[in-house]
Amino acid sequence: MRAEDQEVFENAVAQIKDEGRYRVFADILRQRGRFPHARLRLEGGGYRDIVVWCSNDYLGQGQNEDVLAAAHAAIDAVGAGAGGTRNISGTTSYHVDLERELAALHGKEAALLFTSGYVSNDATLSTIAKLFPDLWIFSDAQNHASMIEGIRRAKCQKRIFRHNDLQHLEAMLNEAPASAPKLIAFESVYSMDGDTAPIEAICDIARQYGAMTYLDEVHGVGLYGEKGGGVAERDGVMHRVDFIEGTLAKAFGAMGGYVTGPAAAIDAIRSMAPGFIFTTSLAPSIAAAALESVRIVRACPHMRDRLAERAERLKEKLKDAGLPVMASSTTHIVPVEVGDAALCKELSDALLFEHGIYVQPINYPTVPRGTERLRITPSPFHDDALMDDLVAALSAVWAQFNMRRVA
Ligand code: PLP
Repeated sequence: MRAEDQEVFENAVAQIKDEGRYRVFADILRQRGRFPHARLRLEGGGYRDIVVWCSNDYLGQGQNEDVLAAAHAAIDAVGAGAGGTRNISGTTSYHVDLERELAALHGKEAALLFTSGYVSNDATLSTIAKLFPDLWIFSDAQNHASMIEGIRRAKCQKRIFRHNDLQHLEAMLNEAPASAPKLIAFESVYSMDGDTAPIEAICDIARQYGAMTYLDEVHGVGLYGEKGGGVAERDGVMHRVDFIEGTLAKAFGAMGGYVTGPAAAIDAIRSMAPGFIFTTSLAPSIAAAALESVRIVRACPHMRDRLAERAERLKEKLKDAGLPVMASSTTHIVPVEVGDAALCKELSDALLFEHGIYVQPINYPTVPRGTERLRITPSPFHDDALMDDLVAALSAVWAQFNMRRVA
């Protein structure tokens, strides 16, 4: 590589460092059966015990013994990798059964697996746009990067409506010709603020304007609704959403993503999406683990009740200690406001290295500059004693860095 080319890379990183948002990944080992406990590998050698407060394994299913047994059994039965793309020997009975289970979870005709939730959004949205050359896409301003990327690559008309602003959405829909195909893309739970979308009202508007609806339930699936179908199930509107997209990597504790919807649409995406066609399918053991996990989560509403109770309890404890829990959150996600990238990193480091508490800093581009935060995610396994430790540690670092408290 030429020296001047090398410099381009170095300058890019130097700028990120200057802004105080250089990411250092904590090197951890989760401990089987002891969620949310883990061990942090220290630079000088050795490990220290920590408690993870920022995992998206929201229900601890990544440590569920039945889920692990399903993964082990699949490895013993069929080996490690899938051995090919879905079309070239990479479809196993685990994949097929998992797709059936996911379609049933969301009350849809069909489902399609991808290697991640990111890929499912990117591939599906860009492929839908290919199928409808005169499509107009209406996208919530706070949609996840994976949706933005899929929409960005679509060569159709795009409009971004202000977050959850129905009037703005309608104003933009009015710009499109009445006869044009339209699609509204939005999320159920916005994972950085912890707020939810008015799904029913968006479906009403979609019906009025003849628009298709595409809902990302990545942070809702498994956690809301009687069977864990997500916020759309909780709100009784699952049948009104055309496409429901989700992940197997968060509440289900495994890996992979999917989209569910009408059989004809899923068949077209299956047949046309490069992000589905040209990549090796999920390892059978992952599909087996996810399948077991979805079945467990569907059958166990008490997990969802416990998570909701834990999140409320934590919010109360943090507020009682004068810590600035962001008012936006009406869900299991508990963001605590900081508002500065460098400070957010320093707070997070102090929590990790001085208190054994792992909450990673959230900064740009994940959230807008000036809204940096600590995003705390309790689970059914974070008991009162762990919460008291967290609040005590946060209070200590808040004092150490002269941070603002709220009344
Ligand atoms: N959609 C949203 C809203 C997300 O927050 C994420 C990841 O955090 C994804 C999609 C991607 O899901 P996955 O982690 O399975 O790639």
